[in-house]
Amino acid sequence: MEFELSDEEQAFQAAVRKFGDKVLRPNERKIDSEGRIPPEVLQEMARLGLLAMPVPTEYGGLGGSAVLTELAAEEIGRGDFSMATAVFFLLEAGWGWTLSQHGTEEAKREILPPVCQGKAFLGIATTEPTGGSDLAHMRTTSTRTSDGFSVRGEKAFLSGVEEARTMGGGHLTLTKSTDGKGFNFLYVPTTAAGNSTQKFQNMGRMGISTGAITYSDTKVPRKYLLGEEGHGFDLALEGFTVARTFVSAACIGAAERALETGIAYIRERQAFGQPLGKFEGIQFEAVDLYAQIEAVKWQCRRAAWLLDKYTLAGDDSHRSEVVKAVASVKLTAPPVAFETVKRVMMWYGAAGYTKDVGLELGLRGVMSYMVGAEGGLNIMRIILGRELLGKEFVPYR
Ligand SMILES: Cc1cc2nc3c(=O)[nH]c(=O)nc-3n(C[C@H](O)[C@H](O)[C@H](O)COP(=O)(O)OP(=O)(O)OC[C@H]3O[C@@H](n4cnc5c(N)ncnc54)[C@H](O)[C@@H]3O)c2cc1C
Repeated sequence: MEFELSDEEQAFQAAVRKFGDKVLRPNERKIDSEGRIPPEVLQEMARLGLLAMPVPTEYGGLGGSAVLTELAAEEIGRGDFSMATAVFFLLEAGWGWTLSQHGTEEAKREILPPVCQGKAFLGIATTEPTGGSDLAHMRTTSTRTSDGFSVRGEKAFLSGVEEARTMGGGHLTLTKSTDGKGFNFLYVPTTAAGNSTQKFQNMGRMGISTGAITYSDTKVPRKYLLGEEGHGFDLALEGFTVARTFVSAACIGAAERALETGIAYIRERQAFGQPLGKFEGIQFEAVDLYAQIEAVKWQCRRAAWLLDKYTLAGDDSHRSEVVKAVASVKLTAPPVAFETVKRVMMWYGAAGYTKDVGLELGLRGVMSYMVGAEGGLNIMRIILGRELLGKEFVPYR
């Protein structure tokens, strides 16, 4: 068992922390208030190889391991507390990797290089207005045509709809095949004829949009099909397993930053003639939060290590172990991050409620992972229940 990061991993982590401190932190309020990640920030991410990181170098990516990507996600979640940059980062990392594994050669050569250069956006479209958890009952359909598919239906709450519309790009879109033979996982360019988009007003992570796409006989060429026809469902689940690890990592980075901020504050802030940190009521909270963050951090790094050892290596033999590790950390990391930010906010008293201190950025951002993004907490429980008790106890997926 080796817990120490390699020299390469430590150097990369330090470079991304520097990017977080020098580029993300000074921009996070602007990202939140202007509702977009400035192009120069994305360009710097592209320069550092942070966009769609696990994508192989031949398609323009860094070919980064899951562990390296996890480390980067921690740092980006720490740097831009609003989580907007982390979401942009992890969607492209997870779904860029999925496309690089299961896309056609033509699609990979066309779609991935601009994504890795920050010139296009790549996201995921599974959720529909009628629900996102019960994916097997989705309604958006794909019908085979002479040269591809025709897509009809509606997806909702999709991250990056505006980015994909303005920068170029699209979403890996899960559809139900009308021939009754399963699900087709298709890359659908956002501006394809037949698509119309809508933007939602979110409460947080304002730097990346959330919206809906309606597909009215949208023609998708066959080259944009991932994997085999009818087999898209499992590919989407595999992509979620990868992306959820990076979601958790971003939450851990945000939690660490909140706790460090809080500890600095309670060392200085005086009440009843002594620093707040001398009151055990507060000191013990800080210690408990530290212990919880450490636990999920190593849980997360182990999940990434398992991804490298099996999923990213194309080895499905330990699927249950990987899925359990990822669902466990996606179940625990967002609540730990949310609780940390909330507690630290309370240590600050009234100041914690102001935008000057900025903890609300993190609270609003992390909340997105509590309510549902990349799968709600109860869905992680369902996944774990299925793995632990068996299909007869959890017959749906
Ligand atoms: C900011 C943000 C960004 C998002 N980005 C994307 C994106 O890019 N692409 C995309 O496809 N989706 C995206 N989503 C949607 C997200 O995937 C869904 O919110 C999630 O899958 C849950 O679906 P739902 O919101 O429809 O809730 P529902 O499926 O209606 O569930 C509602 C609640 O009930 C719980 N629940 C559901 N079933 C059960 C059950 N059997 N037992 C117990 N509890 C249950 C859920 O956990 C949830 O808390 C995003 C969401 C947010 C908030």
